[in-house]
Amino acid sequence: MKVIKEISAMRDISEYCRRTGKKIGFVPTMGFLHEGHCSLLLKARDEADIVITSIFVNPTQFSPNEDFNDYPRDFLRDYHVCKSCGVDYIFYPDSAEMYTEDFHTFVNVNTLSETLEGKYRPEHFKGVSTIVLKLINITKPHLTYFGQKDAQQAVVIKKMINDLNMDVKLRVCETVREENGLAKSSRNVYLSREQKDEASVLYKALKEAKRMILEENMDDVKELKKVLRNYIETNSPNSSLQYIAVTDNTNLEKISNLKDYKGDVLISLAAYYGKTRLIDNILFEK
Ligand code: AMP
Repeated sequence: MKVIKEISAMRDISEYCRRTGKKIGFVPTMGFLHEGHCSLLLKARDEADIVITSIFVNPTQFSPNEDFNDYPRDFLRDYHVCKSCGVDYIFYPDSAEMYTEDFHTFVNVNTLSETLEGKYRPEHFKGVSTIVLKLINITKPHLTYFGQKDAQQAVVIKKMINDLNMDVKLRVCETVREENGLAKSSRNVYLSREQKDEASVLYKALKEAKRMILEENMDDVKELKKVLRNYIETNSPNSSLQYIAVTDNTNLEKISNLKDYKGDVLISLAAYYGKTRLIDNILFEK
């Protein structure tokens, strides 16, 4: 396994792999790897000849009041995790390499980037789509792997790949969870044991919502959201729920009445535990 810090070196390696007929699988990450990231790396290991991952805490997807400086970082630990997952190359550039002083170009997936998370994190997806496009241009993968944990991110990247005719296939991998159901996240290190226990309520609520829709034919979304909010507030008094949304999984448009709706239902939410902001979702077909 090699660590590559320079864009030019990474491009040369990827180009060589392509020319020699190797299939490249690429997993972009911000590091502080956990089993969620590993599931993506192992899927890539399974499907591709060469596995490249990037570790880059991307400044442009954080707004000034967010946790860019505090975001957990531990390269040595990540190195060993990558090695155990069979990674071939870690692309580990520094900020100055990715964003030169005269950097001026951003790509934005309009509309999809403004809803749900975008309402609370206005510049976030512009930063995400720009860095993902840059990383894909550098690593030239045939396949790229994202987690369902960040549902909107997967939808936005899918749209960008389609709209810009990018020559890469997107694989979206299931959310990996703690035993209690809490979605694994690098940010979970910010949580105390008590907060982790309480935060398991979020996924329980999402599963309950799915059950109510599919088994009890609950179709009034307003009422559903009220029940969920109540469930979370009762069972997790230290949470502060920011939003719950019920949308489709392509245009992320709100579904107001589920009665005649057929197709993918995405229920997503964000909640604060102290200063830590957690997101989670459940996706199913109705
Ligand atoms: P991050 O390092 O948080 O930017 O995440 C890198 C990739 O890992 C993204 O595609 C995430 O959606 C994915 N990911 C993060 N957490 C999980 C999880 N618990 N299960 C599956 N994928 C995840």
